[in-house]
Amino acid sequence: MRALDNATYLDRYAHSLMGVYGRPKAVLTRGQGCYVWDADGNRYLDLLAGIAVNALGHGHPAVVDALCRQAESLIHVSNLFATPPQIELAERLLAVAGAPGGSSVFFANSGTEAIEAAIKLSRRTGRTGLVAAEAAFHGRTTGALALTHKLAYRQPFEPLIPSVTHVPLNDEAALRAAIGTDVAALFLEPFQGEAGVVAADPAYLRLARELTTASGTLLIIDEVQTGVGRTGTWFAFQQAGIVPDAITVAKGLGAGVPIGALVTFGPAVSGLLTAGQHGTTFGGNPLAAAVGLAVLDTIETNNLLAHATSVGNHLVDSVTALGHPLIRGVRGAGLLRAIELSADVSAVVADRALTAGFIVNAPTPDVLRLAPPLVITKAQIDSFVTALPALLETLEPTS
Ligand SMILES: *Cc1c(COP(=O)(O)O)cnc(C)c1O
Repeated sequence: MRALDNATYLDRYAHSLMGVYGRPKAVLTRGQGCYVWDADGNRYLDLLAGIAVNALGHGHPAVVDALCRQAESLIHVSNLFATPPQIELAERLLAVAGAPGGSSVFFANSGTEAIEAAIKLSRRTGRTGLVAAEAAFHGRTTGALALTHKLAYRQPFEPLIPSVTHVPLNDEAALRAAIGTDVAALFLEPFQGEAGVVAADPAYLRLARELTTASGTLLIIDEVQTGVGRTGTWFAFQQAGIVPDAITVAKGLGAGVPIGALVTFGPAVSGLLTAGQHGTTFGGNPLAAAVGLAVLDTIETNNLLAHATSVGNHLVDSVTALGHPLIRGVRGAGLLRAIELSADVSAVVADRALTAGFIVNAPTPDVLRLAPPLVITKAQIDSFVTALPALLETLEPTS
């Protein structure tokens, strides 16, 4: 008899799936709330939520309900037709983004596709220059990849689209030098998630708004990881008090169902792409849209923005209170957090955490990233913080 365990599945995986993700850490078979189980029956506290995706955890009744009910009526109709969930979700997104009249939404299926739409939008300004930040991550399709900074991701696929400049984040002089009337768009993440949850200073975002307004450059804020309540407000740009020209949204919006969106602010930007200039078969399908609506509704009715802020602050306080020599501090906002370690040991710690029943990840050698479901409780956070010193045992800070 062949046991359906992790090892058996992973062997079959290795012989059937493309190797782009390396060897998966386990095979997950079910989830409930903030917990998931693997094929060997091990339970894990999910402190990563599918990398900032499962905003409502696993098996949330609002998501299951929306999915099942929408599946019974309409799953897909093509963009030759419209559906009520698509229209309602667009209206709700514009409302929570605080977008002015004349704003609009283009629905895609992923973060990178939202970025692609934004790149095409920017070309309609008649300019081709693009500016992004060093260490930025904007996706992996060949357009978005040109904005992503990491050389290992880009170099094997060059030449990519030309005229992209990367500037050091939070360097005001470099930004001033880079933004001019040849630049179509500036792309910025409010927190660089893949770089280890590194914040763009609010003052830097405000300068970015000033400079781009003066030069007629679009300011496009990539909220794929930070959006939909992740940092304690609907969108992270709102904490800087700026109004962007567009934002890209994806990960948390569908709570696990694939959906992406480009939100354009005001009639001028929204009019840049016209009939026939962009499109996608699945974008805005009623199934994904119905779930997106359920996610926004649940965040609102369950006060999950305030909850994310308070649980996030609790995490910072309790990790700081450990006073552990290997912990340098906790950065980020709401429930997008990085525990900074004082040695390059994050991969080891993440592996130990998994063995101990906690899912976190190591985006950089000295950072543990936590992006748990927005519904996680303080008690669940405490269970991880209590376990943390044991996960760090025998590791040495580098001086
Ligand atoms: C994940 C991510 C993307 C890419 O989204 P995919 O859905 O993986 O294509 C783009 N930008 C940011 C900031 C991200 O975190």
